[in-house]
Amino acid sequence: MKVGIIGAGQLGRMLALAGYPLGIEPLFLDRTADTPGGQVGPIITGDFADSAKAIELAERVDIVTFDWENVPSATLAQLPAHKVRPCARALEISQDRVSEKALFRALGIPTPDFAEVDSRADLERAVAAIGLPAVLKTRRLGYDGKGQAVLRKAADIEPGWRKLAGNPLVLEAFVPFEREVSLIGVRGTDGAIAFYPLTENVHTGGILRYSRAPYRSPALQRLAERHVRRVLGNLEYVGVLALEFFVVRGRLLANEMAPRVHNSGHWTIEGAATSQFENHLRAICGFELGATRARGPCAMINFIGNLPQLAGALHEPDLHFHDYGKSPRPGRKLGHCTLLAPSATSRDARLTRLLRKFRREGAEL
Ligand code: AMP
Repeated sequence: MKVGIIGAGQLGRMLALAGYPLGIEPLFLDRTADTPGGQVGPIITGDFADSAKAIELAERVDIVTFDWENVPSATLAQLPAHKVRPCARALEISQDRVSEKALFRALGIPTPDFAEVDSRADLERAVAAIGLPAVLKTRRLGYDGKGQAVLRKAADIEPGWRKLAGNPLVLEAFVPFEREVSLIGVRGTDGAIAFYPLTENVHTGGILRYSRAPYRSPALQRLAERHVRRVLGNLEYVGVLALEFFVVRGRLLANEMAPRVHNSGHWTIEGAATSQFENHLRAICGFELGATRARGPCAMINFIGNLPQLAGALHEPDLHFHDYGKSPRPGRKLGHCTLLAPSATSRDARLTRLLRKFRREGAEL
């Protein structure tokens, strides 16, 4: 099988690396060749809006997928629909925070209160309806906390508006969550579905810093699976889908979905029977899904802005280092590591120690 991957970031790179042992050859499309994916597989260079390049990609592969949800939907619309997995509709919905929340609500999945904001007057009305604190976000193209302003008090409204005005916006109630969790599900072409254990995620400044899995709560696992199953079924989805939730007083509120492999599932490379990357490929290629059980307690730490010294990490038992081959820049995800431990207690102790060590070495954590 040949799989075309639109976007050659670290997610595309890890997809390609998971595919080689199964005999699945990648072909990337991205703006430049020196990308994490382009370093490990062949690449067509071209703009994501250049449909001629996307058509060339589709002609040279069996299935087209993507590692980035902001691929222009007009580009995907040019491709034969049966070759695109997951489907273009899933991608389009996930590109707009309002469509995403509308889908969640239509499927009975609770979300934070929200209101569309297209003008200053809309913002006043939305604040009156939702109250403060609240989070003003761009509907499209926001990622890793970009395109967001937290409005804590009335004096924050005007600066928040000035920061983001000019884009279609959404105001969301600020959720005083106890924790954030995500559930990764995968659906095959035959409709078979598998779920990974819940992952607990810690963000600062809107960027995922570290995750721990499995997050053991049978009740929340069941609830999250019910929610993700509805989305997978409704979209007749094929591939890996991630849903992020806020946990508030034992309830789950859906924050957003990603129609792709997800940062909170990186621990599955070494920590699960089958990684999210392999399972995405298995699903989109029409193969049987692999087991999703965790091998034991795991933690994943993102390396942001700065990579820690490899030499200082290699002696750590069961620590797995991933360098994405990117040049350092503040706020940029450059790599991650996953650690496996015999118990949740020892995992947590090692996580605390490693976070401290990586911070000392200049990592943004
Ligand atoms: P997002 O881009 O929507 O995933 O937001 C990034 C992160 O910002 C989330 O993972 C939360 O940590 C925080 N955040 C986003 N929206 C809200 C909200 N409505 N209430 C509280 N925190 C939020």
